[in-house]
Amino acid sequence: MQPVNKKHVKKHTENVAKADRCPHYKKCGGCQLQNMPYERQLSFKQVKVIKLLGRYHHVCEIIGMQDPYHYRNKVQAAFGTKRGEIISGVYQSSTHNIVPVDSCMIEDQKADEIIVTIRKLFKSFKLKAFNDVTMQGFLRHVLIKRGFSSGEIMVVLVTSSPDFPKESQFVNALLSRHPEITTIVQNTNNKRTSLVLGEQSRVLYGSGYIEEDLCGFRFRISPKAFYQINPTQTEVLYNKAIEFAELSGNETLLDAYCGTGTIGIIASRHAGQVIGVELNADAVKDANVNAKLNSVENIKFYCADAGKFMVEAANCGEKYDVVIMDPPRAGASLDFLRSLVTLAPEKVVYISCNPETQARDLSFLTRKGYKVRRIQPVDMFPHTEHVETVALLTRQTN
Ligand code: SAH
Repeated sequence: MQPVNKKHVKKHTENVAKADRCPHYKKCGGCQLQNMPYERQLSFKQVKVIKLLGRYHHVCEIIGMQDPYHYRNKVQAAFGTKRGEIISGVYQSSTHNIVPVDSCMIEDQKADEIIVTIRKLFKSFKLKAFNDVTMQGFLRHVLIKRGFSSGEIMVVLVTSSPDFPKESQFVNALLSRHPEITTIVQNTNNKRTSLVLGEQSRVLYGSGYIEEDLCGFRFRISPKAFYQINPTQTEVLYNKAIEFAELSGNETLLDAYCGTGTIGIIASRHAGQVIGVELNADAVKDANVNAKLNSVENIKFYCADAGKFMVEAANCGEKYDVVIMDPPRAGASLDFLRSLVTLAPEKVVYISCNPETQARDLSFLTRKGYKVRRIQPVDMFPHTEHVETVALLTRQTN
C-alpha cells in the first residue's frame, strides 16, 4: 500500500487570490474545489487516488494543466425568465432555479460571449425563453461546441417547437455579430425532461457538425455524440493509454466503450487491427465517419452493450492481445469483467473517470490473474472534484 506522505498533502500556502474568485461558486456547485489553489487541488486528487488505488500499485504524480482555466470546449446554458427579463445560466444544484451566469472560469470564453449575444438578440427579437413549469415559451437551452485547434464553432439552439419566428433574420443577426460561428443547428425538445437535447435537429446554417484535430487525427463532432470536454488533457490521457499498451504494430486491439472511436483510431497506426464497441448508435455513426476521414482501414466498430459483446466474443473464442477500456462512471459490468478474464488479453489498459468503480474492478481483475503495473492520474477537470486515471494491467503467467 502506497503511503500518503507529506509531499502529497501540500499546505495551503499558495496565493488564493486567483482561486475563490467565482461569484457563482456557492449557488452553481459545479466547481467543488475552486476555493483551493490549483496546486492544492492536484494534491487533493493525488491523495484520493492513492487511497483508492494505492493498494494495487504505486500511483504516479498526477498530470495537471499549465493553465487550468477556460478549458471546456462544450458549454451549455439554460434559459428562463426572471422578473420579466430573459436570463441564461446554470441550474442551481439539485433544483430547477437558473443561476444567471455570463462568464465561467472553466468554460470557453468565446462560447460564453456567444450565449450573452443570443440572450440579447432574443430580447430584441421579442422571443421568449421557455418556462419548464408552464411548458410555455420558446428557447430552452443553448449548447456550444468549439474545436480549439480547428477553430470551428457549433451553436445548437434547443427550442420547444420547430417553428422559428423570424428565423433567417435571427441567424443573420447572430452571424453578423459572431462571424466565427461555422454552423447553427436548431434542436427541438418539447418533453418534460431534464435532458437537454430532444430527438429532432435541423441545420439552420453550415454543415450541422464541427471537426476537431486531436493527436494528429481529425474528428467529427455532432450535436449529440460524446466528445471529451478538455482537449488539452485528452491528448495527455490518450498518449498515456497508448504508451501503456506498448503496441508493436501486429496486435489485435479492442477499444471498449469507444464513443466516437477516438482512442482506437489514434492507436490504429500502432496496431494490426482494431475493434471498437459502443452502445450509443449516434457515436458509432460518427466513429465510422471518423475512420473514413482519417483513411483508417484496419478498424471496425460494433454498436452493442460492451458486456454482451464480450460474452459473445468469449463464446466464439475471439483473441485480443490488448484491451483498452474506458467505461462510464459506473465502471464495467460483471459480464464484461468475467469475459475479459476468459478472453485473457496480455494487456488491459483501464481508463476511468471514477476511481471508486475502478478500484472495485481492479479488485476483481487482480483476483483473476492480472497484475497492476502502472497507475497515472490526469487532471481532466480542474476545479471540480473529478479525476481521471489510467491503469495498465498485465496477465500473469504462473
Ligand atoms: N472512449 C471514448 C468514450 C468514453 S465515455 C472517448 O474517450 O471519447 C464512455 C462511453 O461508453 C460513452 O460513449 C457511452 O455511450 C459508452 N457506454 C456506456 N455504457 C455502455 C455499455 N454498456 N456498452 C458499451 N458502451 C457503453
